[in-house]
Amino acid sequence: MKTVMITGVSRGLGLATADLLLRRGYRVIGLSRGAGGFAALCEAYPNAAEFIAFDVGDLDAIPDMVRGVTDRHGPLWGLVNNAGMGMDGVLATMHRTDIEKVLAVNLTAPLILAKYASRGMLTARAGRIVNISSIIASTGFNGLAAYAASKAGLEGMTRSLSRELGKRGITVNCVAPGYMETEMTEGLGEAQMTSIRRRAPLGLARPEDAAAAVVYLLGDEAERVTGTILTVDGGSTA
Ligand code: NAP
Repeated sequence: MKTVMITGVSRGLGLATADLLLRRGYRVIGLSRGAGGFAALCEAYPNAAEFIAFDVGDLDAIPDMVRGVTDRHGPLWGLVNNAGMGMDGVLATMHRTDIEKVLAVNLTAPLILAKYASRGMLTARAGRIVNISSIIASTGFNGLAAYAASKAGLEGMTRSLSRELGKRGITVNCVAPGYMETEMTEGLGEAQMTSIRRRAPLGLARPEDAAAAVVYLLGDEAERVTGTILTVDGGSTA
């Protein structure tokens, strides 16, 4: 059974991805601060789903956490860096600690997780890393400068790391969703949502659409795909 670690598993895209991975026969190690909807998946798949209560912003705890998982299950086949936080606001008045928190959770944690997860993958000469970016990395969005910086950073990391790890059979890719109606976007006003919806000719992407892209990149069919940004946005940025 291939083991995939996914962060931000309690709801939204992480939960949809965990659900699809479990249905496809993967073992899923799910991380978030609370179990949320993943608790039901752990009950439904007692031998394949495992929850670890973990704050990815706790960067010092990452090495031991990854070591614990690989001691129990062997090297990871996949790492999905999905946990993320928004924090919208005018940069000029944003507290420095909030800027640092967004960068720690959305960018530094994925780098450190990839650092430790890739060690076992390097030995196994196989593995997959999928980073969840956002179309905002390339389009920008008023009030999301720190968030956009973190996502653009993830895309840069993806390209470089795909070169670094490619020779050992490890792929590194991004999925860049457009707006999905999850808890993250709940705060947007109706007028903003109407204009966002109008830009997507196919309608807004759902978490299930982006989850399918993640599962594709983790699968055998994607073995020669690396360093890419796979956009799932209903056509908003076409
Ligand atoms: P969501 O519904 O708010 O879910 C976020 C997930 O991340 C939750 O499971 C949350 O669990 C977890 N999380 C947040 N901070 C964490 C931390 N410090 N440590 C561990 N887990 C943490 O958001 P979503 O829409 O599914 O977003 C998933 C990913 O897609 C994010 O990277 C986001 O940037 C990206 N994305 C979303 C959209 C969108 O429109 N929704 C668009 C483009 C990209 P806990 O709170 O229990 O820890």
